Amino acid sequence: MTAGTVKTLFNRIGPDKVGAADGRLLDVGNPSDGSLLSRAPRSSGVDVDRAVAAAKAAFRAWSATPAPARGEILFRAGALMVERKEAIAQVMAREMGKRLEEARGDIQEAIDTAWYAGAEGRRLFGHTAPSELPRKMGMTFRRPIGVAGVITAWNFPVAVPSWKILPALVCGNTVVWKPSEEAPESGYLFAECLWDAGLPAGVLNVVQGYGDEVGAAIVDHPDVQVLTFTGSTAVGRKIYETAGRHLKRVSLELGGKNPVIVMPDADVELAVDGILWGAFGTAGQRCTATSRLIAVGDVGDRVVARLAERAKTLRVGSPLDPKVDIGPIVNERQLKRIHGYVEKGVAEGATLVCGGAIPTEGELATGWYYPPTILDHVKAGSTLALEEVFGPVLSVIRVADFDEAIRVANEVQYGLSSSIYTRDVNLAMRAVELIDAGITYVNAPTIGAEAHFPFGGVKATGNGHREGGWMPYEFFTEVKTVYIDYSGGLQRAQIDNRND
Ligand code: NAD
Repeated sequence: MTAGTVKTLFNRIGPDKVGAADGRLLDVGNPSDGSLLSRAPRSSGVDVDRAVAAAKAAFRAWSATPAPARGEILFRAGALMVERKEAIAQVMAREMGKRLEEARGDIQEAIDTAWYAGAEGRRLFGHTAPSELPRKMGMTFRRPIGVAGVITAWNFPVAVPSWKILPALVCGNTVVWKPSEEAPESGYLFAECLWDAGLPAGVLNVVQGYGDEVGAAIVDHPDVQVLTFTGSTAVGRKIYETAGRHLKRVSLELGGKNPVIVMPDADVELAVDGILWGAFGTAGQRCTATSRLIAVGDVGDRVVARLAERAKTLRVGSPLDPKVDIGPIVNERQLKRIHGYVEKGVAEGATLVCGGAIPTEGELATGWYYPPTILDHVKAGSTLALEEVFGPVLSVIRVADFDEAIRVANEVQYGLSSSIYTRDVNLAMRAVELIDAGITYVNAPTIGAEAHFPFGGVKATGNGHREGGWMPYEFFTEVKTVYIDYSGGLQRAQIDNRND
């Protein structure tokens, strides 16, 4: 890595902007050209202990703050994100390689979540129901849980953390957050909007560093009662095991291997638009990226031919260049991993249609770039058909009919997003019913969540929770049931009171 103006980044523990207790730092590179962008604290368990203590100390006052007042701070934070959107997008594009347009979209998702979560301060509804007994009522209300540990991936460095942190806060919890080591500044700038909006010290703490050092310490900390994680299935499993020993509440949002089924009656141009955007947007580095095209019957030749023509016109390059369609891969390790999958796919009998080589000359050779890559005739059940690549690689699997398409769609361990292109409403509805996934799109690409709808997946993509919409408010609260007996006498429930 070469060094230009290298920034030094910080943790935030309570009111203090601090480095790691032992002064260690980690390097953050720019994937566009390999240069050194910044150095972030390489924190350890000591820093986590301090952050958890700060969060614990802040919990009493924050949880006693009326929820509408908590929500107002989120509104102010949302307004600051609107003001700072461009500045944060510029940092994000350099740090993790997302194109500026997509970086702005990432921050807009957090802004939308701030509006939703802020308003939730005036809802956080409980239930009331009639009692079995006269002159008695029953109701529920929501209580915060305590200190929430938040661990996030690099590919949505602001949007995904906002899905977790904003609901956690409005529900009255305090937070210790470890942003990804690949995007520490983007994370810090998002958190700064909350601090500058008036969030009291200690309510949101940020500890930068590596997963096995900082993340693991958060997961194992006895004073962190609730954990929310977005990242790979392998790490999610480890976290769940450790958290299970502590009986912690855990939300896991993990990997995907998202299919698009194209039926012979589909509008091929529409499907091609959607597949290109789903497979190659954000260089395929989305948990919802279109990784598999399941082409039914004779549509396969038509759709692959059009995809190949169009993929060749996509421009790969700097995420700061508005003419570019596909930015870099986040780091060299991931670039090599992606290429390894392509080589394995070819070895297992797939046909390389386009892409498939790491650029070795010109500007692209200085960063971590990979061209849009399509492999045809990928065999169902092969490595490429089953494993998450997390790069701009589309595997085409040919099948004979709708039933086989559903079988192939469901053969993977994941179940996040999915899509079907067809003009037949009956087939569309059958796909909605039969695909094992948390999200199904009809005649639209697999990517593109909306903040007010639940987001998450089934099988190895998660453990049953959802982010977005109304669902995280349940996750971040405990329900208390209250019975009020105003009869003035002893009334006994769970006793056979019926005298007939
Ligand atoms: P990752 O699992 O390598 O890392 C995610 C986070 O976990 C990082 O902050 C990392 O430092 C931390 N971590 C690593 N090891 C840890 C450990 N032992 N204990 C605690 N924390 C640890 O994932 P990544 O490469 O950052 O992101 C890519 C993955 O995230 C892909 O699999 C993608 O599908 C998934 N993802 C899922 C969603 C979703 O909502 N389902 C959204 C975005 C990304």
